[in-house]
Amino acid sequence: MRLVVQVKPLPTPEQAAALEATLHTVNRAATLVARIAHQQRCFRNFDLRKHAYARIKAEFGLAAQAAQHVIKKVADAYRTLHANLAVGNLGKPGSRRRRAAETRPIVFRSRAAQPYDDRCLSWQHATRTVSIWTVAGRLKAVAFTGSARQLALLAEHRRGESDLIWREGAWYLYATVEVPDRPVAAPDGFAGVDLGIANIATTSDGIRHSGKHLNALRHRHRELRRRLQAKKTKSAKRLLKRRRRKEARLAAQVDHAIAKQIVTEAERTGRGIALEDLGGIRERVRLRKPQRVTLHSWSFHQLGAFITSKAARAGVAVIFVKAAYTSQECSACHHIDKRNRPDQATFSCTSCGFAEHADVNAARTIASRGETGWAVSHAA
Ligand SMILES: [Zn+2]
Repeated sequence: MRLVVQVKPLPTPEQAAALEATLHTVNRAATLVARIAHQQRCFRNFDLRKHAYARIKAEFGLAAQAAQHVIKKVADAYRTLHANLAVGNLGKPGSRRRRAAETRPIVFRSRAAQPYDDRCLSWQHATRTVSIWTVAGRLKAVAFTGSARQLALLAEHRRGESDLIWREGAWYLYATVEVPDRPVAAPDGFAGVDLGIANIATTSDGIRHSGKHLNALRHRHRELRRRLQAKKTKSAKRLLKRRRRKEARLAAQVDHAIAKQIVTEAERTGRGIALEDLGGIRERVRLRKPQRVTLHSWSFHQLGAFITSKAARAGVAVIFVKAAYTSQECSACHHIDKRNRPDQATFSCTSCGFAEHADVNAARTIASRGETGWAVSHAA
């Protein structure tokens, strides 16, 4: 499985100046390449090299590898733009936003991220430094730091390109790592996980992971957004962007922690994990309007993806089950009835009298569907 590890370079002031000058230079070069691509109507990496390679090397003093990376970055940016245009993400044909995207060449921010391959950037794990190409010559020993887990992943499994990133006043290196999956163990039963809003995740063991802290932050941000959007100033936009990032970071942290607990518990007890088929979640949930907003910004997919990837690394089986009626089905007798669920939190079976927290009951139903589904798909 491919993961991205984030570490923090700790450059000296001189090293930082060289890194900064490098980002400025490669992005000016990228903007020029984008203009050439736009004028020549030539967007593929290979073709673009013929038009731009010699010129940006000479004009910006780029090393051969750096020049190639600049061109590839431009080709990738156009590929993304064209894909976005094709699926209508930039508005209907003829709309102002779309016309602007079609008629103007791409411009790169002066601090946009830059990819590095192993020749331009090498890792020394023992001394925890990188050697990196810059426009001011090669920096031999730029220190970096990161969490123990990230450093271990990096030292053992790093492979492929790394990105140099400047974000909100700090430097980052994003490195790709390839971690081998463990073979999936035959599960001894399944733990069911119900994903929700008030409770982010509830397991069939009765553990509820509430999103209180995160929901409160989201609510505050929504209020702030309403006030700032009315202003439309540049500083308001910047603040909004920062808030959005903060929210996304917190959500990722919360999701990581929940996914870890769920996978660790399943691994410890030798069980697999049953999840609802994520595609159906939004359609299934019917909510009052304020909650629906929360739901749409909600990261079901992220949590599902974290659980799936951590399970793959731990060798824990994951099965996706149909989401239909999980909230109305009795996990004891499988009787399905709308009236089984008199309110948001309560489940009370009209047939056998079984009562449980509604989310726990749903998680148990998901677990039993997982067991059935696994038995069917592994019968042969
Ligand atoms: Zn029942």
